[in-house]
Amino acid sequence: MAETRQTRVLIIGSGPAGYTAGVYASRAMLNPILVQGIEPGGQLTTTTEVENWPGDSEVQGPDLMIRMQEHAKAMGTEIIGDIITDLDLSQRPFVAKGDSGTTYIAEAVILATGARAKWLGLPSEEKFKGFGVSACATCDGFFYRGQEIVVIGGGNTAVEEALFLTNFASKVTLVHRRDELRAEKILIDRLMKNPKIEPLWFHELEEVVGAENPLGVEAVRVKHTKTGAVKEIPAKGVFVAIGHAPANELVKDVLDTHMGGYVVTKPDSTETSIPGVFAAGDLTDHKYRQAVTSAGMGCMAALEAERFLAENEGAETSLPLGYGAEVAESAAE
Ligand code: FAD
Ligand code: NAP
Repeated sequence: MAETRQTRVLIIGSGPAGYTAGVYASRAMLNPILVQGIEPGGQLTTTTEVENWPGDSEVQGPDLMIRMQEHAKAMGTEIIGDIITDLDLSQRPFVAKGDSGTTYIAEAVILATGARAKWLGLPSEEKFKGFGVSACATCDGFFYRGQEIVVIGGGNTAVEEALFLTNFASKVTLVHRRDELRAEKILIDRLMKNPKIEPLWFHELEEVVGAENPLGVEAVRVKHTKTGAVKEIPAKGVFVAIGHAPANELVKDVLDTHMGGYVVTKPDSTETSIPGVFAAGDLTDHKYRQAVTSAGMGCMAALEAERFLAENEGAETSLPLGYGAEVAESAAE
């Protein structure tokens, strides 16, 4: 039988924002449920060294996220491996449906669904995804031992991916559409000093070129952004690192968004346009998009949810039909 779970606070997402919200909501005795989504631990599980998490001069991203998960759990957060596929915010309590078939009924919701890698949208990129085209160097870099690789982009992700890929590749070409990187200076410095990396300025990817049988990348065709001149660079792997877009699918039609889909929150707050719904982390942050800022917003969201629930005790609208019996059942567990 499909299960129904009731909670005071439902946290959707298991990145730094979600787990920090879990720690704070648990300590406020709200018994939160946290649903992890398709990527338990979030974006930091796709990287290696993290050097700007306070208290750790260097920590592996996946290890840090396991520690955050354990911390939230130890404080009392119930962590569930499920994906929310539908979220009804039209009345309180709010109702979320999980891919597992479970229904979650919550008096307050903290959205911490983060961001996902952007793609260029080229047909050839789509064709070779998983067959030489990737957006995750830590996941797929290992397959390119001794091969030539191309990385597209000029931000922190592109530079970090290029540096990481030198562990495997014979050569990494960083293709960027300008001649200036937006990555942090310390990373640019490492990039410029690495003999295996060659930046290719003022170029854009035009096409991924490869073999049909078996499907696999052999080169990229790139175009000069000023002269329009086209050339081919041999490559077995293409890593697209052109930024991230907010994972707003659950709420983009019901909450206010801006700047390309980021959920709008009130100034100095995680409150969204619906009372009782809070948003934290990369889902709402078009500016900083860091682990530490996401964690900070997770803390704010939990504290604001606690205050909201205290001020609105007993103010829920009617419960959904058929909900009472199942809740009584799960409450008795
Ligand atoms: P995310 O980490 O994006 O997590 C989102 C969570 O939401 C995931 O767990 C996902 O499964 C879940 N989710 C999404 N949709 C659903 C759904 N429908 N149902 C349930 N759950 C859902 N920042 C730094 O400060 N330092 C670094 O060194 C650093 N390195 C990085 C390296 C890379 C390669 C990348 C991509 C990012 C890096 N960042 C770094 C940025 C940092 O990872 C993000 O700012 C941070 O992870 C955002 O945290 P978040 O909690 O908002 O969301
Ligand atoms: P980003 O900072 O938005 O950079 C995206 C890069 O891709 C830019 O250089 C951009 O070029 C380029 N680009 C965008 N669209 C393109 C297109 N259609 N064609 C070609 N190039 C394109 O994204 P990010 O590097 O993924 O970083 C996202 C956030 O995570 C940032 O806040 C970053 O600081 C954070 N992060 C932090 C760390 C760290 O702290 N070590 C590591 C990784 C990520 P232009 O420069 O010309 O716009």
